[in-house]
Amino acid sequence: MTDDSIQILLKLKALSEVDSKIAIDNAKIKKLKEELSDKSVTLKKLEDVYKAKAIEHNERKTRYQREEKFLRDERHKLIERRKSLASLNNYKVQQAAEREIEASSKQIGAQEETLIAMLEEIDVLAAETKKLEDGFTTKSAEINEFKTKAEAEITELSSEDEGLTKKREELLSKVDPKSLESYKRIQVRYPANPVVALSGTTCTGCFLDLGPQAIVMISRGDAIVSCRGCTRFLYLEPKEEGSTEEATS
Ligand SMILES: [Zn+2]
Repeated sequence: MTDDSIQILLKLKALSEVDSKIAIDNAKIKKLKEELSDKSVTLKKLEDVYKAKAIEHNERKTRYQREEKFLRDERHKLIERRKSLASLNNYKVQQAAEREIEASSKQIGAQEETLIAMLEEIDVLAAETKKLEDGFTTKSAEINEFKTKAEAEITELSSEDEGLTKKREELLSKVDPKSLESYKRIQVRYPANPVVALSGTTCTGCFLDLGPQAIVMISRGDAIVSCRGCTRFLYLEPKEEGSTEEATS
């Protein structure tokens, strides 16, 4: 019986270590997945901004080309109208036509200025688009590198978890249901350390001084001893002098 209790306690201690490793691994996996998701959201935003700017740039260019062509046609028409002036034999009509041509010419001049301003805007848009594209490309490479690393790490952690789960099942099969039930109950309250050492006469879980009797009870090993403060299972901290270890062997 004595040996049994000690063995079960050791198994539960091992189980708590496996459980916390699994919990740590899962937390790491969760964090990596969250980071990956955050980064892809960031990248998508950068891509959207860059693409919207590229569309704006292209639209402005198309508009410029359209207006530039329109203006070219207008200029051409003006030249034709000037040529046809000579063929007008009525002086008054000729004068009116000249005034009209003059007005159109001024209008075209104003539109040309608008076009020049538009070209400047297009240059600014091109520079902005390039800057956004470069930013996106750099971030994309950075995130892809992170993704490769994170995915490898997730795979590694997952396979480690598989091994730990097997070990866990093995340990579970060696612990009696009653002890296991108590262990699980304690684990709900203290997932990180359901089994703790007694250091001197103090529980290292809740730091309650349990008095010398606790040492005696654990050493005797008739049953698994729980801390009366926190209910965690207690084991004796191995001492360099080996006095307690000798007592249990
Ligand atoms: Zn305690």
